[in-house]
Amino acid sequence: MITPEPHELSELVRQLHAQATPWLPAGLGSRLGWGPAVQDTATVVSCQRLNRILDHAVGDFTVTVEAGTPLRQLQETLWSHGQWLAIDWPWGSEADGSGAGSVGGLVARGLAGGLCHRYLGVRDQLIGIGLMRTDGVAARAGGKVVKNVAGYDLMRLFTGSWGSLGLITELTLRTTPLPPQRRGLLLQGPLEALDGLRRWLLRSSLTPELIDWWSPALSLRAAREPKNALLLGLASVSAEALADQSTEIQGRAEELGLHCQRLDPERLEALRAVALGERSAQGWLLRLGLLPSHATQLLAAHALRDLPLVLGAGSGLGYAWAAAEALPAYRVEELRRLCCRHGGYLTVLQQPPATAVPAWSDVPSRALIEAVKREFDPKQQLARGRLPGVLKAA
Ligand SMILES: Cc1cc2nc3c(=O)[nH]c(=O)nc-3n(C[C@H](O)[C@H](O)[C@H](O)COP(=O)(O)OP(=O)(O)OC[C@H]3O[C@@H](n4cnc5c(N)ncnc54)[C@H](O)[C@@H]3O)c2cc1C
Repeated sequence: MITPEPHELSELVRQLHAQATPWLPAGLGSRLGWGPAVQDTATVVSCQRLNRILDHAVGDFTVTVEAGTPLRQLQETLWSHGQWLAIDWPWGSEADGSGAGSVGGLVARGLAGGLCHRYLGVRDQLIGIGLMRTDGVAARAGGKVVKNVAGYDLMRLFTGSWGSLGLITELTLRTTPLPPQRRGLLLQGPLEALDGLRRWLLRSSLTPELIDWWSPALSLRAAREPKNALLLGLASVSAEALADQSTEIQGRAEELGLHCQRLDPERLEALRAVALGERSAQGWLLRLGLLPSHATQLLAAHALRDLPLVLGAGSGLGYAWAAAEALPAYRVEELRRLCCRHGGYLTVLQQPPATAVPAWSDVPSRALIEAVKREFDPKQQLARGRLPGVLKAA
């Protein structure tokens, strides 16, 4: 991995372009191995040295950072002003956030956790982007203020691009006030009753931060009954409003025969840490999506047995993981077919060294993805063999 200084970047990329050298943009390199393998011959160009917070417009709730800025550093700066980047964090990292990646890596992966229920995904928080094109020319799109987003929406295109279109150098993001009050509820019981509560909640005027399905295996890891569960996160400016919400939900849950446990902020964080925590680097990590109304069919499926799974009840997006020996490859394929049958997909982010399940299947828009790729990377230099949504990329 090479780590150029900001002033060296353009010249380096121009040289790589002139020689048509395969290369891979990288952040801090914390999760480069996810998805299809990185070609051994590719030069990995890290933007680790692009690590400055350029502008925090506190009153406008926006922040502009260089792409290699560690997410942890950004969150700490924002917290000191009573703000945060509203994403699940720290994710898959040490409790102190030291294993977390860069802001650019977060955007390039484009993955969001359960908090997207209230705050939407990473791409929705992005209002401007700075890029280094494959020919070494700098480009920019979007703006620095929320209402001034003009021109092509490269922000959405580059979110989830996995380094396949260009190097992200700078990002302007929307920030959010830290909610002063947080509480949680853990609901357990029969799947149908939980689904009844989910439907009621999504139609209600209540606005939880988080409504996550938990599989029985995940409940067990959190030292709870090995049963399906819904974890709710509630946030408000007022403690009274929060208590009212909890009481209303608890009342409804009891009518449906569910067991309801109230969680203070520490207990809520401890439970969320179980779902966000680090997994074995040798095991499976699967990204799953399906129609949210079909989630119970996944939770009841034999193929899911014994797997920890967390799935957004509103988004239908989540992830499951397992040690190498606990999950044979055919079951992953079975889960993929199940997700596809229910309007979704399965991406293999990480798998044991001995297996070779394709990271993703071809998506219907493959031709369009390849056409966009040709425009941005005519020499097909970037992220060879790792074009998201394309089964066998160049
Ligand atoms: C549900 C979910 C939630 C997550 N939430 C968090 C979170 O809160 N915090 C967190 O740290 N991680 C989170 N992650 C992991 C996150 O998606 C990234 O994998 C991680 O942030 C990578 O950081 P990195 O700097 O080490 O990137 P790397 O491991 O270096 O790169 C990751 C990918 O992004 C590309 N890439 C990286 N930087 C750039 C760039 N500047 N320009 C173009 N492409 C680039 C690379 O080519 C590679 O494909 C989450 C993952 C999931 C599944």
